[in-house]
Amino acid sequence: MELAEFRPELDRWLDEHHDELRPSRRETLDEQMAHLSVVKRMTFDAGWMRWGWPSLVGGLGGSTLLRAYLGEALTLRGYVEPGIYSMTEVLAPTMIEYAARDLAAEMVPRLLRGDETWCQGFSEPGTGSNLGSLACRAVRDGDVWRVTGQKVWTSLAHYAQRCVLLTRTGTPESAHRGITALFVDMDSPGITVRPIEAMHGSAEFCEVFFDGVAVPVDRTLGDPGQGWAVAMDLLPFERSTALWHRAAFLHRRLGDLLEVADGLDPARVGEVAQLVYAFRARSRATQYRMADGDHLGPETSIDKVLVATAEQAVFDLAAEGLPTAIAFGGDPASNHWRENYLYSRAASIYGGSAEIQRNIIARRLLDLGADR
Ligand SMILES: Cc1cc2nc3c(=O)[nH]c(=O)nc-3n(C[C@H](O)[C@H](O)[C@H](O)COP(=O)(O)OP(=O)(O)OC[C@H]3O[C@@H](n4cnc5c(N)ncnc54)[C@H](O)[C@@H]3O)c2cc1C
Repeated sequence: MELAEFRPELDRWLDEHHDELRPSRRETLDEQMAHLSVVKRMTFDAGWMRWGWPSLVGGLGGSTLLRAYLGEALTLRGYVEPGIYSMTEVLAPTMIEYAARDLAAEMVPRLLRGDETWCQGFSEPGTGSNLGSLACRAVRDGDVWRVTGQKVWTSLAHYAQRCVLLTRTGTPESAHRGITALFVDMDSPGITVRPIEAMHGSAEFCEVFFDGVAVPVDRTLGDPGQGWAVAMDLLPFERSTALWHRAAFLHRRLGDLLEVADGLDPARVGEVAQLVYAFRARSRATQYRMADGDHLGPETSIDKVLVATAEQAVFDLAAEGLPTAIAFGGDPASNHWRENYLYSRAASIYGGSAEIQRNIIARRLLDLGADR
């Protein structure tokens, strides 16, 4: 199906199912996660969620633009929260590219249909920006890897059935050459998950501990030692379709703000709207490049810098327009603005910090030399 046909048909279906798709409550993460499963199941069973994915994983084919539009429509209507919805866009393409065919065929439909949640175990205490130094160790023991170590900031690990995990299989000095990616069942013996409450009041991410956890060798993503390539190919996905969905969220929240806040300085509104639209224009171009089959790489760091700038600008404007609600309000709408404002501080950290993105832009796109 082409985008021009997909859009009106999807919009019509969403209108018809509005009452079932609209969350009755979305104040807690538990509520958001439960409702996300409902939306994913409904859209998968009706076929919408399957467009833009290959038939190998239960998809109906077609352009990746169809996925971009589905997430945009669901986000604009407030049916899903983009951060938790878009994890699929980050992890499923990696599985399709690097998992054994049978494994991808078995697992990816579960994620698309909302039967499962997956998480991304990259960061560790002391290893965030410099992923090449990660220490969580996997040692070959017959038909399994034995994994021992710790991850941190693992979003949704306490809801997840599976984890895309980066492990050190080479020597500690092997840096990015000695990393292997594994697909791990989160109910494996030896895994302990401890949620961490963030400043916006929600425990979205976790510490995850691995104590001699057995992971079958056929759960290796790519070849042993190929984990760096898996990570480098995953990160652009984190900065492409997922960010298009986030653009829709920022657009919606800027519109909400203009409806409820009095006395905003028009020049400031224009400045912020310009940042949102600049980011959206950039992200739109990325969606089309992806749909044309281009390999996404370091240029998606520009999208990441722009989304962080736009997100913080939107919620800085909210803090100017709704200062009392954000500082003191106790009603659901005020709580939502406060959470959005506080969470926007993380936009320049998650998915690669703003400074690291600028380093990548300088070094790999502008050829301005190595870090000093
Ligand atoms: C909301 C949220 C969700 C997250 N979810 C996940 C997840 O699901 N899975 C996962 O694996 N991780 C996740 N993370 C972790 C995230 O990827 C890391 O926080 C990020 O990569 C930064 O790493 P760090 O926190 O270790 O900071 P550090 O790497 O220690 O950096 C600290 C500061 O130093 C700066 N800095 C570091 N190196 C350089 C340099 N060479 N040049 C200039 N400045 C530098 C950074 O920009 C930053 O300001 C999440 C983080 C957040 C905030």
